[in-house]
Amino acid sequence: MSIADNVQAIRRRMDEAALAAGRDPKDVLLCAATKMNDADRVKEAVAAGVDCCGENRVQELMQKQPLGAYEGVPVHFIGHLQTNKVKYLVGQVALIHSVESERLAAEISRRAEALGLRQPCLLEVNIGAEENKRGCAEADLPSLAAYAAGLPGLDVRGLMTVPPIGTPEEADGWFARMKELYDGLAPAYGYTVLSMGMSGDFPAAVRRGATVVRVGTAIFGPRDYGPAR
Ligand SMILES: *Cc1c(COP(=O)(O)O)cnc(C)c1O
Repeated sequence: MSIADNVQAIRRRMDEAALAAGRDPKDVLLCAATKMNDADRVKEAVAAGVDCCGENRVQELMQKQPLGAYEGVPVHFIGHLQTNKVKYLVGQVALIHSVESERLAAEISRRAEALGLRQPCLLEVNIGAEENKRGCAEADLPSLAAYAAGLPGLDVRGLMTVPPIGTPEEADGWFARMKELYDGLAPAYGYTVLSMGMSGDFPAAVRRGATVVRVGTAIFGPRDYGPAR
C-alpha cells in the first residue's frame, strides 16, 4: 500500500468513527506523525491530503522544513520539548501539543512575547499516571490550566495525551477520561482541541471526541530505527 492509499484508508475509518458517534467528520483533523520519515515521504503524505504534520524532535523539524517537507499544511510539534529548544519553535509551528509544566509554559510565553505573538499550545496529560511518560499528572491539570491561561504569550487551545499501551478497551477508557477532563475545562478556557489517538487506536479516540489524531505507522509503515547500538 502506498502512502496515499494509507491516508485514504485512515480517513475512511476516521469518517466512519465520527459518524458512528454522531459527529461531523470535518471536525476531526488527521495529523501525520512524521518522525523518522524523510522530506520526500512527508511530502507524499501532504499530497495525499493529511491536514497537518507533527514532528517530535526540533532538529528533525529544522532539517526538513527548509526542504519544503510540510509545504501546504501547518506543522505541529508533538514530542517532548526541552526549555532550551523552545526558542527554535515559537512562531515557527502552528501548535505545540506537549506543554507539561509551568516552567515550560512560562518559557514559551516569554519567547512568544518577545516576538510579539501568542503561541498556540496544548497541555499534555499523563492520563495513565505512568512513571516514564511525559505530561502533567491529572491532579495537577487544573492548576496548570489556570496558570497557562494567565500567560500573555500563550494561547492554550486544549489538551493532548499519549495513553498507556494496552488493549483497545483500555485505550477507550483513557480516551473517555480525557474527554471528561476536556469537558471540565473547555467552557472556562474556551478550549476547542483534543489531541488523542494514534495508529492502533485512532477510531476509538474519534468516537470519544478527539479533534486531532496523530498517526505515523499507519501512514508511513514501521519506522526504521536502524541497527541496534
Ligand atoms: C510517534 C507518535 C505518534 C504516532 O504513533 P504511531 O503509533 O506511529 O501512529 C503520535 N503521537 C506522538 C506524540 C508520537 O510520538
